[in-house]
Amino acid sequence: MSTFTMEPQYLYKLSTMGPRGQNTNDPVNIEHSCNMPHRYITVDYLGNCLLCHCDGWLPIPVGKVTDFDSIESVFAASSSKMLQQDIDDKKFSWCAVDHCGIRNSSVKQPGFELAINIDESCNLQCASCRREPIMHTKGPDFDFKIQCIERIITWLDKFDQPIRIVSSGNGDVLASHVMRPLLQKWKYKQSQTFTLFTNGLLLRKQLEKLPILSAIKMFSISIDAASQAVYEDVRRPGKWSVLLDNLKFLQEQQLNKLIRFKFIVQRRNYQDLLNLVQLVEQFDCEVDVTELQDWGTWSHFRTDNDDAWTQANGIYSDHDVLNPNHAEHKPAIQMLYSIKHHPKINLSQIVKQAIQ
Ligand code: SF4
Ligand code: SF4
Repeated sequence: MSTFTMEPQYLYKLSTMGPRGQNTNDPVNIEHSCNMPHRYITVDYLGNCLLCHCDGWLPIPVGKVTDFDSIESVFAASSSKMLQQDIDDKKFSWCAVDHCGIRNSSVKQPGFELAINIDESCNLQCASCRREPIMHTKGPDFDFKIQCIERIITWLDKFDQPIRIVSSGNGDVLASHVMRPLLQKWKYKQSQTFTLFTNGLLLRKQLEKLPILSAIKMFSISIDAASQAVYEDVRRPGKWSVLLDNLKFLQEQQLNKLIRFKFIVQRRNYQDLLNLVQLVEQFDCEVDVTELQDWGTWSHFRTDNDDAWTQANGIYSDHDVLNPNHAEHKPAIQMLYSIKHHPKINLSQIVKQAIQ
């Protein structure tokens, strides 16, 4: 039933996270509504625009950034209209209805939002995320990404309605040579706010003198540790002292209440959860503690011919302490249990279920 021409990676995504509305023999019979395709644009690593906040839930590109002159024109594209109509009609033909929450309640995106996930460059190389360093600085793909960012700046200049811009979760914006022009050139309006996802190591160096600092309403800082030894193991080659200096920078600017730490629980860091309590109290901020997710970096199985990286870093199940079969499951659960009532610590639903 697919009426869109799509690159293989989107067809692959469409084949996962099923069933989609179009795959079921019967109508999905969902009475809830969703306004996401009228309000939300995600720009992915290929410079494609998608109309949901998860590109796995609705993996249908409606065009490249460079195809559009404005935010309004993205929502007005013929493929956008087709998706909007399908979802307004409650068919959800391409939606991952068992994953996105639409079966449980209506999805109401309150305002316009633009998520820019165009560059996976990062100054770190965490084992959970990548086997090789990724830093794009030249070449045709880099040039195209820069064109996209230049175009997005013109979109924001023209757009008069309130909008929240969310930076990449799949790389580090402050390290990205693609994203830096946005930070440096965008003349934000009062109605435009920014949520920055970052590992935090370049906050002082990149933001200290930039006007955009005032537009940032949330610093979502992935730390995954709360002590030097654990940090320098899970966030290689990051330095704990550098992270602390950058957190102090936000404190000096009186922005520390806008910090939200991210801590993904795994074998190498669960012992640090008590230190995490001290850290959030020291910086008077909050933390989201979430479960490990499989991003495809670790192998799933051991073999006789494991590559050197797997020999050094193990396989996914070695790290997944929320799995009841993991040798350290019990102490990890006890540690999570001991912090669960702290007012500044927010456990994800899956973590909460694991410790019940
Ligand atoms: S129904 Fe679900 S997948 Fe479809 S646009 Fe809404 S939130 Fe996204
Ligand atoms: S800091 Fe984030 S984006 Fe960078 S390598 Fe680590 S997990 Fe990946």
